[in-house]
Amino acid sequence: MVANGIKPNEASITAVARLAAAKGDGDYAFDLVKNMGAYNELPRLRTYDPVLFCFCDKLEADKAYEVELHMESMGVSLEEMEFAALLKVSAGTGNEEKAYGYLQKLRKTVRCVRDETAKIIEDWFQNFECNGLELDVRLVKEAVTRNGGGWHGLGWIGKGRWVVRRGNVDMGGKCFCCGEQLACIDIDDTETETFAGSVAGLAMEREVKAYFKQLDAVVKELYSQRGNWPLIIFHNKRVRALLENPSHRKLIQEWIQKEVLYTTPHGSNDDWYWLYAAVKLRCLLVTNDEMRDHIFELLGSNFFLRWKERHQVRYTFLKGNLKLQMPGPFSVVIQESDKGAWHVPISGDGNEDSTQGWLCITRPSACGALGEDAVSMETSENGHGVCNGSKLLSPCKQKCIAGCNNEPESQDSDNKPATMAGKRKERSPSPS
Ligand SMILES: [Zn+2]
Repeated sequence: MVANGIKPNEASITAVARLAAAKGDGDYAFDLVKNMGAYNELPRLRTYDPVLFCFCDKLEADKAYEVELHMESMGVSLEEMEFAALLKVSAGTGNEEKAYGYLQKLRKTVRCVRDETAKIIEDWFQNFECNGLELDVRLVKEAVTRNGGGWHGLGWIGKGRWVVRRGNVDMGGKCFCCGEQLACIDIDDTETETFAGSVAGLAMEREVKAYFKQLDAVVKELYSQRGNWPLIIFHNKRVRALLENPSHRKLIQEWIQKEVLYTTPHGSNDDWYWLYAAVKLRCLLVTNDEMRDHIFELLGSNFFLRWKERHQVRYTFLKGNLKLQMPGPFSVVIQESDKGAWHVPISGDGNEDSTQGWLCITRPSACGALGEDAVSMETSENGHGVCNGSKLLSPCKQKCIAGCNNEPESQDSDNKPATMAGKRKERSPSPS
């Protein structure tokens, strides 16, 4: 091609790399990819795949790791299949540290794994017997909390053979195989700070209407469930208008008297106040607003969707009766417990009725070593105050902020203001 004066492009280089890899010549394929900058072409994931899979299949682990480094340097993100291949080659060459690292990378990349990936993980644990680290129980727990729950990242824990099973978990997140309680997983400390910072850095204007009766009901229900008032956030203009309205004045005065009402200054957008408070203080946010506004997209879907899953409380009024819908009791994602156990959800067959399948991977010695005081660390992440299992390590003692759909905002706080709702939010006290 080059000899004929034709400039290769990404597609043609990828095609040639595939041919070379199919013949087992990964080195040649890798050289092609590494040199494509000479043609001002940028490699994509598909450009790297033939090389990476070729090295992995031939158990040329170091070369495969080199490909991964090159991908990172070019800003190409690996996905499930690539990490699964790297995990497999690390398992095949007995590299425990790398296998641990790729399991962690897989955890960060996907929620449920494909069946092929589940088999690779099963094979690794069934054949892997190396003794884990002697870790301080408290350090492990602190790491789990710092990370937002669901993983510690410190290394393999425990001794002896792993027990690998396939099974299910109950509605509350308790594993039928080993009895462990699966965790609610939040964004980690650093992500929380970054997220709060990006909220603080943006501004927006939005009109809100007040539905006072509903807001009042939500606030009172939160108080009765949690014993703390939610933080209610309103724009100051709105508060002034409400105070002038005889039918609303009493309620507003009551909130002011209880010090649960926070007013945002003139010219500012209340949405940012409640969102910032909810993120920064790690509260629950009560709102039916799905926050699909484009400004929320600016915050980055990665953080935001994960945060919303763990912090948003929705509500309905059915025939006048309030019903709060709390975040689920556990997260369907790959989890590494503070006892060293792993739980891996497996992608279903697309049938909504079929039960979520899980890989349950435990080591008896690991559980025995760390299990004793696991319970003392629990906090409720859902704001339910109902934390049953020993693994609900929620980083947040959650408080609640309530928001009425597109209405006034309310927040609540235990003792200090906790959150804000763009519409209306509430914040509930921490159970602990
Ligand atoms: Zn289990």
